[in-house]
Amino acid sequence: MSAGSRIKLHCNACLGERWHTVLFATQREHVEEPHEGDYYHELTKYQLAECNGCEHVTLHTTWTNSGQPTPIEEQWPPKISRQQPRWMRELRWLFEQGNSFKQDFIREIYSSLKAGNFRLAVLGVRALLEQVMIENVADQRTFTQNLEAFERAGFISRIQREALGPIIEAGHASMHRGFKATEAEINAILDVTENVVESIYVAKGKAAGLAVPPRARPNE
Ligand SMILES: [Zn+2]
Repeated sequence: MSAGSRIKLHCNACLGERWHTVLFATQREHVEEPHEGDYYHELTKYQLAECNGCEHVTLHTTWTNSGQPTPIEEQWPPKISRQQPRWMRELRWLFEQGNSFKQDFIREIYSSLKAGNFRLAVLGVRALLEQVMIENVADQRTFTQNLEAFERAGFISRIQREALGPIIEAGHASMHRGFKATEAEINAILDVTENVVESIYVAKGKAAGLAVPPRARPNE
């Protein structure tokens, strides 16, 4: 595959499989002879490619070796199926003077997702929600009781509580027994969590008349 050719890859901006144009391609070979006449061979092909839909750029690698005839394909940055919420910048601004743990948590949850660390993402959501609940309805001692108090106070609906509870409890209790939430389950708990954080903090900040300053240009 050479520069100018087309290849179908995942686009992290369009969030799906898209045609890409290869901008640059190269490869590296590594050969060893551990015993006389016995060769070990590794080949890595690199392709820097641009999405034909949105111009987002990705690096795709294909790796093979003598004992591994099926190529291993990877992309950098790793494939994601979900973008960080657009209001992250507003959250950062609102908390500039104080505690930025919510924003830090959300960023860490998304970097766990990017690296395919779904268990860590579930633990991160649990820890974030716990902090948000304690801040708003005081600590009711257990996670389940906090969730119930959170629902009674009107921060989440019964349907949202029922969507959150089992996944987060299962993730917490059986972490050591190999539990792994599916991507759909993680998307469901993130939908609720983002909704809660946005409505409590971002929307409240806007309602209080706190205007977010315009974004500075990169070269300013
Ligand atoms: Zn794209």
